[in-house]
Amino acid sequence: MHDVTIHSDFVLPPPPTASVAVHNSAARFPVRRIICVGRNYAAHAREMGRDPDREPPFFFMKPADTVVDDGTTVPYPPQTRNLHHEIELIVAIGRDGTDIPAERALDHVWGYGVGLDLTRRDLQLQARERGQPWDWGKGFDLSAPIAPLRPVSEVGHPNAGRIWLAVDGVIKQDSDISKLIWPVPALISICSQSIALKAGDIIMTGTPEGVGPVQRGEVMTGGIEGLGEIRISVG
Ligand code: MN
Repeated sequence: MHDVTIHSDFVLPPPPTASVAVHNSAARFPVRRIICVGRNYAAHAREMGRDPDREPPFFFMKPADTVVDDGTTVPYPPQTRNLHHEIELIVAIGRDGTDIPAERALDHVWGYGVGLDLTRRDLQLQARERGQPWDWGKGFDLSAPIAPLRPVSEVGHPNAGRIWLAVDGVIKQDSDISKLIWPVPALISICSQSIALKAGDIIMTGTPEGVGPVQRGEVMTGGIEGLGEIRISVG
């Protein structure tokens, strides 16, 4: 016989569900994981000292609760002297899948958006040199600002359009999402061969060239043609 004991399902209050705003909606997109793609524009791969022609795509993660809403002031993070902006096309996954063929990959997309893969570049490069993981350079608190997502029903599946970022109004990154080395269907397909993609997963698809530092008190503005803009201040 079991004791008849009233108990809750968790020993602590479960953490709140991380989420991203949705354009023109009060409802929010629940975030399960944030999967990031490294060096997915040739000119950025070159500025990071790598040959874009010789590498398959590679992935790293940020914790779900690193997401930050548009319009937020993000405090300058600890243990870095080189906080970098990386403007990126965001893909929001709406349907589970494994071994997804590229031809069916877009069926798994819920929507798209504009985001920042904020990076402690000094910690990332130090880890790279030492063969250590990138997590501390990439997955720190509040490192994933994402503007309100736009559903596929509103924006379709954009595969071209200007992507840009300015610091205090001065353009630093200016490219086009048509220059992604591995476009969205390929990323979804390749990723789903290694891990099960699930509804709520976010893919940050990589940044174009022009990454650089942002200082306390500066404002990052950026956007992607047809997908809106983002504005984040550094505290
Ligand atoms: Mn990035």
